[in-house]
Amino acid sequence: MPDSNLQKMTMNGKSSNAKYITAEEGGTQVEFAGPQMSGTRRGPARWSRVEQMLTLACLLLTIIVVVLIIMIVTSTASHDKSKVSRKKPVLAASIDGGYPIPDDLELTNICLTPGCVNAASRLVTTMDSSVEPCNNFYDFACGNWNKKNTIPDDQPSYNTFSKLGDEIQVILKSYIEKDVDLTKDSNSTAKAKHLYRSCMNETQIDSEGLTPIHEMLADLGGWPILEGTAAKPRTQADVLDLLIKLNLIDQNVLIWQTVSADDKDSSVNIIQLDQSNLGMPVREYFLDEVAAARRTVYQKYMHDVAVMLGADAETAQRDVEEMMLFEIELAKITIPSSERRDNEEMYNKMTVGKLQELVPEFDWLVCLQRLFGHVGIEITDQEPLVVYAPSYLAGLGKLYQSTDNRVIVNYLLWRLMMNWVNNLPSQYRNIKNEYIKNIFGSQADPPRWAECVSFVNMKMGNALGRLFVEEHFDESSKDTALEMIHNIRDSFYELLDEATWMDEPTRIVAKEKADAISEKIGYDDSILVDNELNKEYEEVEYYPDRYVDNIITFLKHTASSKLKNLRTPVDRTKWSTSTTPAVVNAFYSPTKNQIMFPAGILQPPFYSKHFPKYLNYGGIGMVIGHEITHGFDDRGRQYDKDGNLVKWWDDVVIHRFKERAQCIIDQYSNYTVPEIDMPVNGLQTQGENIADNGGIKEAYRAYRKYTQRQHTQEKRLPGLLQFSGDQLFFINFAQVWCGVMRPQASINRIMTGVHSPGRFRVIGTLQNMPEFSEAFQCPAGSYMNRKERCSVW
Ligand SMILES: [Zn+2]
Repeated sequence: MPDSNLQKMTMNGKSSNAKYITAEEGGTQVEFAGPQMSGTRRGPARWSRVEQMLTLACLLLTIIVVVLIIMIVTSTASHDKSKVSRKKPVLAASIDGGYPIPDDLELTNICLTPGCVNAASRLVTTMDSSVEPCNNFYDFACGNWNKKNTIPDDQPSYNTFSKLGDEIQVILKSYIEKDVDLTKDSNSTAKAKHLYRSCMNETQIDSEGLTPIHEMLADLGGWPILEGTAAKPRTQADVLDLLIKLNLIDQNVLIWQTVSADDKDSSVNIIQLDQSNLGMPVREYFLDEVAAARRTVYQKYMHDVAVMLGADAETAQRDVEEMMLFEIELAKITIPSSERRDNEEMYNKMTVGKLQELVPEFDWLVCLQRLFGHVGIEITDQEPLVVYAPSYLAGLGKLYQSTDNRVIVNYLLWRLMMNWVNNLPSQYRNIKNEYIKNIFGSQADPPRWAECVSFVNMKMGNALGRLFVEEHFDESSKDTALEMIHNIRDSFYELLDEATWMDEPTRIVAKEKADAISEKIGYDDSILVDNELNKEYEEVEYYPDRYVDNIITFLKHTASSKLKNLRTPVDRTKWSTSTTPAVVNAFYSPTKNQIMFPAGILQPPFYSKHFPKYLNYGGIGMVIGHEITHGFDDRGRQYDKDGNLVKWWDDVVIHRFKERAQCIIDQYSNYTVPEIDMPVNGLQTQGENIADNGGIKEAYRAYRKYTQRQHTQEKRLPGLLQFSGDQLFFINFAQVWCGVMRPQASINRIMTGVHSPGRFRVIGTLQNMPEFSEAFQCPAGSYMNRKERCSVW
């Protein structure tokens, strides 16, 4: 996740420049015009062997568990079957690595449904019973994750989210590779199948060779680096012309531009400008002395791509060095993401005319007129726009004036080329491998089918989502999720009431805001209606044998759809774009004051209708609480109930809020990621940490309320009989964050991510939570039961 723009959606979705929408889980991604680069990708065919072994292991374990239970039931039938006691949980593991059966456990109080047995098997195989939970709950809950999962070669990291994402990919593959069936397929799903076919049609792609890429470059005015010293000189008009052409195929290089809801008038769409991301994912890779080796690899990648496309090696070397110097200057003027958290300060509304005065080096009016003229929208110098990084644009203006146009044109097209590599014939694609390995740590390309499923899911997420929800989504989970949202929101009201640092007027308005949060669960209903779904894709046509044309069609369509939004009111009832059904993530949109839980996350280990409630509350319940709390984190709190950026807090209350947030910032800054010996950036991750801390508290309270209403403890899990429902709530919560990262991925995450690493999402929140220490009877002063606690909500 590069540090440009307000914030991005990440995980399995594209690293879009979606405007400040918080997503549940983050990772660094390569922005990519075609199928995604192996920076983040996923489980290939070789993976299925691992899966088979795991399945076998789970099956064996299930059998062992069931046999054990039968033995227990027969051998302890004469024991006193008194009520389950929560008084004295003995947590030390027995010699054989399992847990002793509490003497006083009523044996009818064990859940033996397949759902419970499966869940128990997962929990048991992931946790490390040799670790004392109060010493380190993450190591206790996730200690065996590493032993059961390896990072697939094509991925920089592997965790609960990506594992579930991989499973969804396999399901999507089975739908999308079927032939088009005119009696069943809608227009849209047929188009999605054609798009997938074209991506898989390697014979066709290979037979075209490099012709399509050369044609595209010619359409864009030619890449000087390929023309050698004989290249015609480029003018500033050429640079602007190229910027516009790139924008019309959805490439935001140098300047990020979109049309989205105005932060201060969230019912109206407005043009927005910001700094753009850089070629490498971390700004510091361009600036820090210690990152010199990365720059060398990046520069080599530039050189290799140019030479592959026909550049003279010597000229290319000179051009590449100049591009590198230019990008270093660019990196210097970008603002680090940790300094981009005050939305009020970042929001600079002005007219095009005013921007012209601020950054006179570009002809903004002409650029915007040409851009929006493309979709028939007129722009005058009175057109309002929001600029999020005026100092960057001012710096860019100066850089533009002082840099040779050839260098800028070379750079703009390099940024397109670096992401276009996966669209090339198969023999050229490995040109990126050394770069990917060094920067992201992944070792190989994903199998083509996985790239193509991912590609179609990014480009036609609702069409593919339609196939997914029709065959794989349990409608009843919508009702359950809704009920949980209401219960968890009630917990948030309680926290609000208990927040003694708030004054009464602010508390009342905060309650109104929580009350106004709209919830979206599973998918947008419109995708099940043929006409509505087809409308989304009516302007595009995809052909099974025209891959490159299909990509360009898609990119042009995306760009013009964004532009067309300008004179269209914001539809608050719609899911935000990019939050399509088959993704494992959850979102909060501050301008819509909306929480979203796509179908992809409403699955085990987050949710199952067959789970006991403690698992669901520890899983999806925590996620729900997290998203609700985003409305009240350091950035979300700046927006009111209607999604407008207005100051609705008293200064004194803001001061108290900041003091509490500072406690969280300091707490997380003190954590060090052991594998890379780097501290967490507490400032950059504060919003997510605040949401994590509030979320788990809200979910736990809601779960406790549920058990109180039932007047009984829920059944326990086989193989985990020692653990109460309260304890299993925390174990399932922690296991959501199990995962491993390659060192490069960890560094990228620490440098750019807004989420703390999984280890500290568990430790940080639970160290702040007395209820956790009580559930596990952690002695005062133990690592998990520390004296100093931080709490915002
Ligand atoms: Zn979040």
